[in-house]
Amino acid sequence: MKIQFCGAAGTTTGSQHLIEVNGQRILLDCGLYQGRRNEALERNRHFPFDAAKIDCVVLSHCHIDHSGNLPNLVKQGFNGNIYATPATRDLCSIMLPDSAKIQEGDVEWLNKKRKKTGEPLLEPTYTNADAERTIGLFVTVGYHRPMHIADGVKLTFIDAGHVLGSAQVVLDINDHDTGNQRRLLFSGDVGRPNNDLLNDAEPCDGVDFLVMESTYGGRHHELAAHTSDRICEIINDALERRGKVIIPAFAVERTQQLLLTLDRLRHEGCLPFVATFVDSPLAVDATNIFRLHLDAMKPTVGQAIYTKDDPFGFDGLELVRDRRDSQELNHLKGPAIIISASGMAENGRILHHLRNNIQNPNNTILFVGYCAENTLGWKLRNGFEKVNILGDEFAVRAKIEILDSFSGHADHNEMLGWFSRVGGAKERVFLVHGERERSQILCDAVQQAHPAGKVEVARLLQQETL
Ligand SMILES: [Zn+2]
Ligand SMILES: [Zn+2]
Repeated sequence: MKIQFCGAAGTTTGSQHLIEVNGQRILLDCGLYQGRRNEALERNRHFPFDAAKIDCVVLSHCHIDHSGNLPNLVKQGFNGNIYATPATRDLCSIMLPDSAKIQEGDVEWLNKKRKKTGEPLLEPTYTNADAERTIGLFVTVGYHRPMHIADGVKLTFIDAGHVLGSAQVVLDINDHDTGNQRRLLFSGDVGRPNNDLLNDAEPCDGVDFLVMESTYGGRHHELAAHTSDRICEIINDALERRGKVIIPAFAVERTQQLLLTLDRLRHEGCLPFVATFVDSPLAVDATNIFRLHLDAMKPTVGQAIYTKDDPFGFDGLELVRDRRDSQELNHLKGPAIIISASGMAENGRILHHLRNNIQNPNNTILFVGYCAENTLGWKLRNGFEKVNILGDEFAVRAKIEILDSFSGHADHNEMLGWFSRVGGAKERVFLVHGERERSQILCDAVQQAHPAGKVEVARLLQQETL
């Protein structure tokens, strides 16, 4: 059997690993590479393999850096099964069309420039129609339901605790060339332990070959326990000033995580009743999908949803889909919490809320997630005094607060803890999904903990015979 790292090697996005065994080609993830527009467009359009010759795809979870190039794979001739958990399929059915919209918008932006210089115009990498065709190829497989997916290959998903439906991929492979029976584990993205929404990443035994993420190699997250205290402080402080709290948040997972936390803090008496809005059609759709997958969450959350204590439907919470209702929020008087996307404040309805509220010193803008360099969110996080929002300049007078402990990824020590629960010989270990420096730090620590195995940072397009 062979494995080739076709993406997310030396970087965090564009997860794609190709396995060749018994004359078949199995692709683990088909993520979008995210970076500068021109470079991303180039990398995403050209697969280092023939899309039509891939037999099937196994998808670890819904995030666009893992799923976002599937519609392009389909456009280029792939017609096999895409194996994923039921929640991953459902989240992809809203996220892939949303990604198509962004692809179309990006190309429009590039074409405006190209028109001026006379360069030939570009087509979007894929369109909504490609995304819709992709959804039709999904075959769902629940956690712990072994499934034969190719000659000599059995797939089992186990929980990764990273996002609703996220999975670690276990492949039991009977290699006809060598006669060997081997187990390969692909971590996907691994979540932080002790999350109140999702279950912890599960342990796996008997692993011969391991492909593991390394996003936060060398980094240490704040303890989750501190998060609650900080949130209460930040919100109560704004409410005392009769101000609003504006929270840019990713529509999937982070928004639901926030709702769960707000609901709990209110139950604990730490937060008063305050009008709370989730203003993002994608976040509203995602929240409704969460309600369908009680099996993929902590049992306590599922039980709460079935009772009147629904954490995604608490008193005073309004989920806003309609554009007019969203515009109404501009005239809202008095204190409120508004959660809106996108999380990096690059696009979406959050921009209107920032325009409306950024100049009032009574308001607070609270960041709860990563913002890529040069995005509006990044500028606000980094103390810019003036920012441009939708073409106009605004003075930043609102209070800016940052809470980074909501991370969806295990940190350095948490990854080592996860690794210690992976049993078996672990003959070969490949680190992926990390900036090279981050991956190398975790690689050295894993090698030290596991001297018997060969541990290395995967290189882009590196191919290994196992
Ligand atoms: Zn992810
Ligand atoms: Zn990822």
